Amino acid sequence: MKTAVFGAVTAVGLVLSTGSVAAQQTFISIGTGGVTGVYYPAGGAICRLVNRDRAEHGIRCGVESTGGSIFNINAVREGELEFGVAQSDWQFHAFNGSSRFEEQGPFEGLRAVFSLHPEPFTVVARADAGISSFDDLSGKRVNVGNPGSGQRGTMEVVMEAMGWTMSDFSVVSELPAGEQATAMCDNNIDAIVYTVGHPSGAIQEATTACDTVLVNVDNDTIRALVEDRDYYRMATIPGGMYRGNADDVTTFGVGATFVTSDDVPEEVVYQVVKAVFENLEQFRALHPALAILVPEEMASDGLSAPLHPGAERFFREAGLID
Ligand code: GLU
Repeated sequence: MKTAVFGAVTAVGLVLSTGSVAAQQTFISIGTGGVTGVYYPAGGAICRLVNRDRAEHGIRCGVESTGGSIFNINAVREGELEFGVAQSDWQFHAFNGSSRFEEQGPFEGLRAVFSLHPEPFTVVARADAGISSFDDLSGKRVNVGNPGSGQRGTMEVVMEAMGWTMSDFSVVSELPAGEQATAMCDNNIDAIVYTVGHPSGAIQEATTACDTVLVNVDNDTIRALVEDRDYYRMATIPGGMYRGNADDVTTFGVGATFVTSDDVPEEVVYQVVKAVFENLEQFRALHPALAILVPEEMASDGLSAPLHPGAERFFREAGLID
């Protein structure tokens, strides 16, 4: 643990006029994603619940907008962030040292805290681009996502399975999630990809700023990918959620998960989990994509790294795991 970043600091400046010394303060940061995604508001919701009880536990929680899943896992690994939100596929690969994490090797200290909302692999195209299925992306102008984002990593896995390289697209851009809707609606690109919960501000923006279609990502290659991998499942984006997209869309998806490292003390993780689970009703109300969360599923779904002992303690006490 890098104590410089994560030390429990006694705030000398907070000596109260009564002469009593303020309780020890511990600072924690959560790495999220773009501000129009769901990770950022979800991280904000976690911090809000944690900070409410700060006087009792002394933990002060802050949220950071970042490049996404892979960035967050690497920052937790470096001790630069205590917590991060990450796709279940990248949690799996980071812990096992596979796929994008092969070169770095397994992140053995990675710990699961709980899972959050489902994240369908979402492809949105301009209505005039002639894209009606995922296969039609070939030859088109596509934003594949910024390096470090979950969607970029997952897109590369899918491209490899499809036998595509970047040169199969006529234009490739690497814009972060928050910039891609504008680029598409300005007609600089034909399609965008985003692994994200629904509804999200980013997809709302893309579907209202110009005429679009949500594209089915369903073919034999995708079905085979899902069949072979526990962290993927087929997913539906319900029709009627976004302007101009009345029909259900079939794609595959992952789950958003909340992760930390074994360097973060048990008591800190315990208090964070407690703040969320004891106020779940409020947590669910803080973003519509979180509304469907169920405690039993949050304690187990999509968690391939071992549970952090602080999370395990709370889940046992709450009867969510045996
Ligand atoms: N799944 C995206 C990623 O891992 C982020 C989605 C969001 O910010 O809600 O980068």
